[in-house]
Amino acid sequence: MTRVLVTGAAGFIGYHLVGRLKAHGYWVRGVDLKHPPFGPSPADEFYRADLRLPDACVRAVRNVDEVYALAADMGGIGYISRTHAALFHSNALINLHTLDAAARHGVRRYLLTSSACIYPEYLQTDARTSSLKETDAYPAAPQDAYGWEKLMAERALQYYSGEYDMETCAARMHNIYGPYGTYKGGREKAPAAICRKVALASDGQDIEVWGDGLQTRSFCYIDDCVEGLYRLMRSRQSDPLNIGSDRLVTINELADVIVRISGKRNLTLRHVQGPQGVRGRNSDNTRMRAVLDWEPSTSLEDGLQRTYRWIDMMVNNR
Ligand code: NAD
Repeated sequence: MTRVLVTGAAGFIGYHLVGRLKAHGYWVRGVDLKHPPFGPSPADEFYRADLRLPDACVRAVRNVDEVYALAADMGGIGYISRTHAALFHSNALINLHTLDAAARHGVRRYLLTSSACIYPEYLQTDARTSSLKETDAYPAAPQDAYGWEKLMAERALQYYSGEYDMETCAARMHNIYGPYGTYKGGREKAPAAICRKVALASDGQDIEVWGDGLQTRSFCYIDDCVEGLYRLMRSRQSDPLNIGSDRLVTINELADVIVRISGKRNLTLRHVQGPQGVRGRNSDNTRMRAVLDWEPSTSLEDGLQRTYRWIDMMVNNR
């Protein structure tokens, strides 16, 4: 039986990924700083550890064949645009120590969860942006420390796979959303934040949206993300790969879909000052389709329906 480590297993994507790996029959160890907030981990073995510490990483990788490296100090644009030094420090330590431990202790394949935030800011100044291909990463100019650190971790994969007997791969994920994600507290991303605001609003009220709402993104449903990560691990791909949807929407359009799903009447969007990140970003999925023979298939409407239903239940105690 293949033995797998998922770091960040109590987080949004990690929690879903562990469930999927268990369904496929893997033996799974989950490690995280915290316990899963919404119920026990489905992992065979779960424990808390701080993966900034080298010894904790050595213990975590012991006797596993594959590592899904998800642990990160992480949040939406409100968080990553104001938390640079501490986030860079924590994530660099987590990624370097986990990778080093895996390479030295017999791990066969290692998957890093990188991010669309590694792409250069100069390619993302227009809301009607052209989609970002994997080769667009250089010359490098990510907007925030979060992106720079992910790019550094991608580089580290190249060096380690070149000098150790371990295969590596990196998923550049684009805005993943779905149930069991952070929806309050300051680390939430746009889909969850807007679902929460709509769920708490009464008919006729305003919903706050940061900026003019004309900034664009693509959003990928969690089940598709987990399927993409699983397929990438099973592939022989070593260069970074986008995992995301290629349907570009404005934040206003995203909010309109959520308002429609809620069934509430006369909710209006009120645009306020707030961090917006880059002006426009989309995923070019050409390489993903070729390598994984697959692409995300959940529509934004279906994914948001499931996400809204869950967040509404959480905030309104339904
Ligand atoms: P998340 O915050 O829900 O999960 C990250 C987990 O890492 C958390 O449970 C956290 O407790 C854990 N962690 C943080 N520091 C740790 C430490 N020192 N030791 C052990 N565990 C620690 O985030 P997520 O959305 O599930 O993201 C998972 C991965 O995917 C992250 O690497 C993130 O950067 C990447 N990613 C996510 C998205 C997205 O849209 N959610 C997009 C691109 C990349």
